[in-house]
Amino acid sequence: MNVKIENLTKVFPGRDRKSEGVTAVDEFTLDIPDGKLVCLLGPSGCGKSTLLYMISGLEHPTSGKIFFGEKDVTDIPPEKRGVGLVFQNYALYPHLTVRQIIKFPLENVKGEARLSKEDMEKRALEVAKLVQIDGLMDRKPGQMSGGQQQRVAIARALAKMPDVLLMDEPLSNLDARLRLHTREEIRRIQKETGITTIFVTHDQEEAMSISDMIVVMKDGILNQLGKPQEVYDDPVNLFVASFLGTPKINIFKGFVKNGGLYVGSDDKAEKILDVNGIDDRQVWIGIRPEGFEIAKDGKLTCSLKGVDVMGRDISVVCSHPADDEVIRAIISAENDVDRDAQTVRFNVKPHKTFIFDRETDERIRFS
Ligand code: ADP
Ligand code: MG
Repeated sequence: MNVKIENLTKVFPGRDRKSEGVTAVDEFTLDIPDGKLVCLLGPSGCGKSTLLYMISGLEHPTSGKIFFGEKDVTDIPPEKRGVGLVFQNYALYPHLTVRQIIKFPLENVKGEARLSKEDMEKRALEVAKLVQIDGLMDRKPGQMSGGQQQRVAIARALAKMPDVLLMDEPLSNLDARLRLHTREEIRRIQKETGITTIFVTHDQEEAMSISDMIVVMKDGILNQLGKPQEVYDDPVNLFVASFLGTPKINIFKGFVKNGGLYVGSDDKAEKILDVNGIDDRQVWIGIRPEGFEIAKDGKLTCSLKGVDVMGRDISVVCSHPADDEVIRAIISAENDVDRDAQTVRFNVKPHKTFIFDRETDERIRFS
């Protein structure tokens, strides 16, 4: 089922007449293809949950429309939308067994769509197998680990064979190892079932690893939509460039003058690249950690603070007056770095270097 969102806006009213409302989701337009896993990614408070709840029907939009396939579902209640929901706080009924929990949504179906007792049992076992908890059917939530409980929650959401699966930070209550494992499981289940899935997370690494497409949002506004690698390699603005990637992209103050890109702001500024097609102006320069190359006569001179060994790579930690934060350059461990040196010099890779307008933070492309 493809999901289409058109100019979707949600304004929560202020507490009283004097206080302003909050625009949680702002004119969102998005087309989610059938059978894909799409992540809504952004910092806390950017409107991810609100957008997801509007898709589920739990929240009604202030304006705009939602389509499932050709059908306008904007005014259809949640139970009639054919969605499965998995929340961050998976509250499973403590006194029910796994079998009963999974069957619960099926028991609630009235009328013609109601399955027979045998078919309910069959279906429950089917989805339990899918999430690999079919050996735990008679346990209660208190007798299971967090990861197992979360799988029960996923099985329950899948039991009604939803057209669309919606997940709101489903892994945030799990410890680091289980989080990794469960996200691979979710990916596997999604691929096996082919259910269109919308997955909310604030964790860029999680989003990068799990999704077909990432929707990066900030303050209720869609900033960029694309395949994970595309968004990483080709960010549209400073926010997207900074939000994706660990270690973080390094941001320098700089300017463009006569076709040269300079780091710094005075006559001591260093020209690091030739850039064509950009008028003279003040910019932010973003350089990915993997965008540096150590060179004796390198164009960018930094103060060396330390070298972290990471096995295959090393992380050169340094500073520069044009960057307020510590700079991390990830380079191959085959490079010889003099750890006692005061300074380290780099050249930068053009395709790992991004230029942003100082005023608008928008990306400025160069050739
Ligand atoms: P996220 O899931 O990305 O953390 P939310 O969608 O929960 O963000 O919230 C987006 C914004 O809307 C926040 O500023 C939040 O405070 C506000 N908000 C969310 N729900 C309500 C509500 N029921 N009433 C008022 N404001 C809300
Ligand atoms: Mg949320």
